Amino acid sequence: MPLMTTRPMTRRSAVFGITITAANLARPSASRAQSTGRVVVVGGGFGGAACARALRRADAKLQVTLIEPNNIFTACPFSNEVIAGLRELEAQQFGYDKLAAEGVTVIGQAATAVDTQKRSVTATDGTAFAYDRLVLSPGIDFHFEALPGYDDAASEKMPHAWKAGAQTLLLRRQLEAMADGGTVAIAIPANPSRCPPAPYERASLIAHYLKNKKPRSKVLILDAKDSFSQQRLFEKAWKELYGDMIERVALSQGGRVTSVDPATRTIVTEFGNYIPEVANIIPPQRAGRIADIASAVDATGWCPIDPVTFESKLVPNIHVIGDACLGGGIPKSASAAGAQGKACAAAIVNLLAGRAPETPRLTGVCYNTVAPGYGFLLAGNYQPRGDIFAEVEGGATSPVDAPRELRAREAAEAERWFQTITADTFG
Ligand code: FAD
Repeated sequence: MPLMTTRPMTRRSAVFGITITAANLARPSASRAQSTGRVVVVGGGFGGAACARALRRADAKLQVTLIEPNNIFTACPFSNEVIAGLRELEAQQFGYDKLAAEGVTVIGQAATAVDTQKRSVTATDGTAFAYDRLVLSPGIDFHFEALPGYDDAASEKMPHAWKAGAQTLLLRRQLEAMADGGTVAIAIPANPSRCPPAPYERASLIAHYLKNKKPRSKVLILDAKDSFSQQRLFEKAWKELYGDMIERVALSQGGRVTSVDPATRTIVTEFGNYIPEVANIIPPQRAGRIADIASAVDATGWCPIDPVTFESKLVPNIHVIGDACLGGGIPKSASAAGAQGKACAAAIVNLLAGRAPETPRLTGVCYNTVAPGYGFLLAGNYQPRGDIFAEVEGGATSPVDAPRELRAREAAEAERWFQTITADTFG
């Protein structure tokens, strides 16, 4: 596809996968001052915080309550750079003061129960919050049953680093402690999963660290997939930048990890066992637990929705956005979550006012960073089709044979994307 150079690239979707801009979202302003109601949002990440903020901006009469246990949110995008020692974790952290100043009531607790009949959410201390509409944006939880041997205790030895924070720093410390000549294994699950390109970005940036600090070392990718997004771009960059430092064992070569033994740091695949010096295990995933508690999850482990309103197909008056929803063609990314949060806010304002919701069109731009100053993009547009979002015309991907100047430009755009989306979400 041709590279689109005329369109403003202001957002980056996962350094992988895809991103979504809010440029073409239905605007909630038409309903200003007409609707009243109580909206509770569970989860103050990219989806939930964007939704809570958009609701208050659309209609100052709305009572918007955000329930989120952490006072400080730690963002995953760019956390691979923290692992590779290119950035500090503090650059990933954001508070909720701005949301509170804009009139969102921020409750620093977890939601523990949802009464769908009485329409109320209970928080850790037992307080119940009544809602007219509930938005769930709890992100992912891990599907430990699908990976025997792996659980929270195992993640202390074989970190996932798939929720940013302490796990990110643990993986970084393990890399720093590893002797030159060691192997860093990355186990990648099948889709759907959070930010499908992010594991390959991680492999790239870890290779960058090793090339500079421990050049006799290797990165071994054990992959439950045969192909992945922007594969040709990644593989070309790996060859160009890292020679044979990165080895990938695909699904059909026996790369799927079937179990782990944290006591011996053993990774078991369909065709053999590995004992790497550092084991980064990214387990299979599912919607955050509170979505299960609210009965919004189906047999896939994710939440089916009406893509026009994001209302659950299983529970009325509950909307699900971000990684937790079954979005179809939209990758699970921060950009997607933010765009969905705004579109969902617009739909809720219309529904509360008794008006028909508008059909959203989400636009995403995704940048993958494989080394400092070396990035590439993927742009896509998405619209509701049946029960999911489908990709529509107008997408673009960076050409495989682009000059290094373009790679440098796209790496700089990625940084600007992160600044823009975090300012837009958290203020
Ligand atoms: P989250 O942002 O995870 O937010 C969920 C929130 O819900 C959390 O704050 C959590 O504390 C809260 N929560 C959970 N349960 C409860 C409960 N019971 N009560 C109250 N609160 C609760 N995306 C991009 O677009 N670009 C990138 O470059 C990119 N890079 C990535 C790199 C890595 C290594 C990873 C792992 C992901 C990356 N992503 C990227 C993906 C992105 O981080 C997620 O898609 C995005 O965070 C999803 O937003 P969300 O709102 O669904 O979930």
